[in-house]
Amino acid sequence: MSTVPELFASKVFDDRVMKSRLSSKVYKSLKNTIDIGEKLDITVANAVAEAMKDWAIEQGATHYTHWFQPLTGITAEKHDSFISPSPDGRVIMDFSGKELIKGEPDASSFPSGGLRATFEARGYTAWDPTSYAFIKGKTLCIPTAFCSYGGEALDKKTPLLRSMEALNKQALRILKLFGNDQVRHVTTSVGPEQEYFLIPKELYDQRKDLIYTGRTLFGAKPPKGQELDDHYFGVIKPRVEAYMSDLNEELWKLGILAKTQHNEVAPAQHELAPIYATTNIATDHNQLTMEIMKKVAQKHGLVCLLHEKPFDGVNGSGKHNNWSIATDTGVNLLTPGETPYENAQFLLFLCAVIKAVDDYQDLLRISVATAGNDHRLGANEAPPAVISIFLGEELEGILEAIEKDAPYAGVEKTVMKLGVSVLPRFTRDTTDRNRTSPFAFTGNKFEFRMVGSADSIACANIMLNSAVAESLKIYADRLEKADNFEDALHEMIKKTITDHKRIIFNGNGYDDTWIKEATEVRGLLNYRTTPDAIPHLMDEKNVKMLTAHKVFTEAELRSRTEITLENYCKAVIIEAKTMEMLARREILPAIEEYAAFVAKTANAKKSLATDLACTYETETVKKLSGYASEAYASLDELDSVLDKVKDSDSVTDTAYIIRDELLGVMEKLRASCDEAETITAAKFWPFPTYDELLFGV
Ligand code: ADP
Ligand code: MG
Repeated sequence: MSTVPELFASKVFDDRVMKSRLSSKVYKSLKNTIDIGEKLDITVANAVAEAMKDWAIEQGATHYTHWFQPLTGITAEKHDSFISPSPDGRVIMDFSGKELIKGEPDASSFPSGGLRATFEARGYTAWDPTSYAFIKGKTLCIPTAFCSYGGEALDKKTPLLRSMEALNKQALRILKLFGNDQVRHVTTSVGPEQEYFLIPKELYDQRKDLIYTGRTLFGAKPPKGQELDDHYFGVIKPRVEAYMSDLNEELWKLGILAKTQHNEVAPAQHELAPIYATTNIATDHNQLTMEIMKKVAQKHGLVCLLHEKPFDGVNGSGKHNNWSIATDTGVNLLTPGETPYENAQFLLFLCAVIKAVDDYQDLLRISVATAGNDHRLGANEAPPAVISIFLGEELEGILEAIEKDAPYAGVEKTVMKLGVSVLPRFTRDTTDRNRTSPFAFTGNKFEFRMVGSADSIACANIMLNSAVAESLKIYADRLEKADNFEDALHEMIKKTITDHKRIIFNGNGYDDTWIKEATEVRGLLNYRTTPDAIPHLMDEKNVKMLTAHKVFTEAELRSRTEITLENYCKAVIIEAKTMEMLARREILPAIEEYAAFVAKTANAKKSLATDLACTYETETVKKLSGYASEAYASLDELDSVLDKVKDSDSVTDTAYIIRDELLGVMEKLRASCDEAETITAAKFWPFPTYDELLFGV
C-alpha cells in the first residue's frame, strides 16, 4: 500500500512531472503559458505531447481524450488510442502537439441553443494548459475548452476562463492604484463543499423514479426524519466509511484535495469538501468528484444521489461555493490587512462584492436555476431564492460608521474616515456563522450557498467573477481620474454602502418575515422558480455587462437562455411521465390488489359468522378506493397538461405551463398515492419506501 503522499496526484501530469520530464526550455515556456497566459509555440506543444504520452503509457494508458464540459452540465469525452500504423505493419504509440492542442469531436448532438446549426456539426476542443492532464482508467484526459467554428463557446469552461481574466484585469488596475505594482496576476479560488446521499443499490434498482429522474417522485414520510438532529456530524457507519475511504483514495490519485467528510443533516446525507483551488481547477475537480462519487458507490453496492432534492420532507443537497480573490504574491484580497492602508484596500474589494451581488442578484439566481434546485430555493428550505449578504456584526458596524461619518465603537474609537491613515485596524470576525444566508462572508471568503448539488459550479463563478469585475471597473475608472485618491476612495466606499446596504442582512434568511421585508421593503428580487429567473439573463443590463467584459457574446447568452429553459422543461416532463408510468402500472394496481385482499378477508369473515366486525376492512377499502379515484383523476389532468406542453412551440411558454400547471398536478397525484401508501400493507407496496431508502445503509 502506498502512503497518501505517494498516492497523491500519481495520476496527474502536474508540475512535478513536467519539471522532471520536460527540458528546462520547454518547461519554462509552458509555465509562462500556464501562469500568465503566454501563447504556446507548436514546438513546445510537440515536446509536451511526447512527454505526456510517454508518461501516460508508463501508467498503463492506451487512449487519450479531450475532456470537456458541454452545456449538458456533465463532462464529455471521446477516446482515441495512441496507435499509429508503422511501415512494418505494426503500430507505434504516437501523440502530436497538434492532437494535444486541438480536437474535433462530432459535436452535433450537444446542445448549442441555436449557436451551431446541426449541418455544421463541427465544433472543436482546445487544450486548457492551466488545468493539468490526468489519467482515468486507461485514458489520458486532457482538459479542454469546447467552441464552435465561429468561435462561440459551447461549454462552461470558456466563459469561466474569460470571467477569471475579466476579474484579473480590473483587479490589477485597482491594485496598481494602491501601489501594488509587483502583482502580476489576480485569480479567484473556490472550495466547493459537496453534499450527497448514499442509498443501497438493491433498493435503488427497484425505484424507477430514482433511476430516471434521480429523485423520489412518490413516498410517504417515514416516522423518523431529521428531527432529532442525530445524523449531522454523527458517527459514520462502517459501510459509508469504507466508501469514503475508497473515494478519497481515488480523488487523491487525481490530485483532488479531498479534505473533510462528515454526515449531513438528513439521514443518509453526507458531505465532502476539498481544500480550495483556483476556480478553473476547482471546477474541473468538482466535475470529476461527482463522477467518481457515483462510480465508487457502485463498487460498494451503493448509489450516490447528487440530486438537489432526492427526498421530500428532509433537507436537500447543495454545494457551498467558498470563493475568494488572491494575488500571485499570495495575498487574499478578502482578508482584512495589518495596516490601515491594507484595510482600505480590503474594504474596497469587500464593497466591490457587495455592489456586485446587489446589482446582479438576478444573474446569481440565474446561475443556480435548475428544476432540481427549485425544490430547495423558493421552497420551505434554506437558503431562500432571495439573495442577501451576511457580513457579521463587526463588519456591518464598520460600514455603518463609514457611511455616517460616525465614530466606530469597535476596536478603537475613531471616525471611520477612509483618509487611509486614520482607518483603524480591525480583526476579522470568524466566530459569527449564519447558516441560512445565501451569501455569507466567512472571515476571508464569501460562501455562496445557493448552488445545487448536481450542478456544475462554473455558472455561479462566471457570474460572480464578472459582476465583481464590473464593480472594480467602475471603481478603477473613477479612481484613476481622481485628483485626490483618498477622498475619492472614501466617497466611493460611502456611496456603495448607501446604495447597496439593502442587500446586507444578518438575520434568519429562512424566515417568512424576511422574505416579506426583502421583497416589499428593500425591493430585492425573488425569482422563486427557474422559469421566473432565466428569461432575465437577456435583460439589457445583464447583456451589456457580460458582453462588455467579453465573458459572453449576445448570441452565447441567447443560447444559454434557451438551453437552460430547455433542460428545465425536459427534466420536469421526464418526471411527469415517470410519475404517470409508476402510478398507472405499479401504484394503482398495488392499491387494487390490497383492496381486493382486504375485501376478500371481509367476505371470508362474513361467511364465517355474519356478526363479525369488519369496520377495518370496510373503511380501508373505502379509503383506498377514494385515493385511487383521486389519483386516477389527477392522471387524467396530467395527460391533458402534457398534451398542452406538446402543443406549445416556444420553450418559454412550455416552462410557464410547467410552472403554473404541471407541477401542481404532479403534487396532487403524489399526495393521493402517498396517502394510500400509509394504509397499504407493506408487502403489497410495489417499491421500497422512504424508511428503507433513508435508513437502509
Ligand atoms: P465550513 O465551516 O463551511 O465547512 P471551512 O472553513 O471548513 O468552512 O471551509 C469550507 C471550504 O472553504 C473548504 O473547501 C475550504 O478549502 C474553503 N476555503 C477556505 N479558505 C478559502 C479561501 N480563502 N478561498 C476559497 N475557499 C476557501
Ligand atoms: Mg460551508
